[in-house]
Amino acid sequence: MDKKYKVLIVEDEVKLARFVELELKHEGYDVVIANDGRTGLDMYFSEKPDIILLDLMLPQLSGIEVCRRIRKESDVPIIMITAKGEVMDTVTGLDSGANDYITKPFAIEEVFARMRVALRIINQEKRERDENVLSIKGLTIDKSSRTVKFNDNVIELTKREYDLLLYLVTNKNIVITRDQILNKVWGYDYIGETNVVDVYIRYLRTKIDDKYDVKIIYTIRGVGYYAKDE
Ligand code: CA
Repeated sequence: MDKKYKVLIVEDEVKLARFVELELKHEGYDVVIANDGRTGLDMYFSEKPDIILLDLMLPQLSGIEVCRRIRKESDVPIIMITAKGEVMDTVTGLDSGANDYITKPFAIEEVFARMRVALRIINQEKRERDENVLSIKGLTIDKSSRTVKFNDNVIELTKREYDLLLYLVTNKNIVITRDQILNKVWGYDYIGETNVVDVYIRYLRTKIDDKYDVKIIYTIRGVGYYAKDE
């Protein structure tokens, strides 16, 4: 594994928890154990695990209740562990936000396989989120929703302003000529004033640099513009 993942096991069968712990440690995971639901919930907050193996029937707080409460805070992968005959509860478990479930008795390889899937999915989602978000000096551009924010303030931009800003930030710290901007943002067939670029740069500065007292867009006189990151 590239990264050492921390697993929280919430299981009141002490021997079973211990067995799974040893097997997981052997596979290279960090492991912490809680033997009841209340402790499990507390340990989720104190230990910040990357994934949780959560028994369904637990003293103090049921697995479903633990799952529900964690889901209010986080999308950490949760794999429910259920006993045979708890089918209805399993359905409720998935409703409460568990990613997957395993039925006792289980082969430890099955646990490893389910965990790898759950972790891969969560990592992929995170990677996609990261790839869709560009940031520069407190300004973020979310390409999937075309949302621009400075810190937490949403900045309303027209389509053209957005395209121009995205182009500059995608190529941050690189000077871009007016012609390049015109071709990219307005298109090769644009006929009109070339100072349209300067006009739109001014719009962006009014909405971002001036409004939030930050300097993102720089001018290279006679050449063009660039977005400067720290
Ligand atoms: Ca149990």
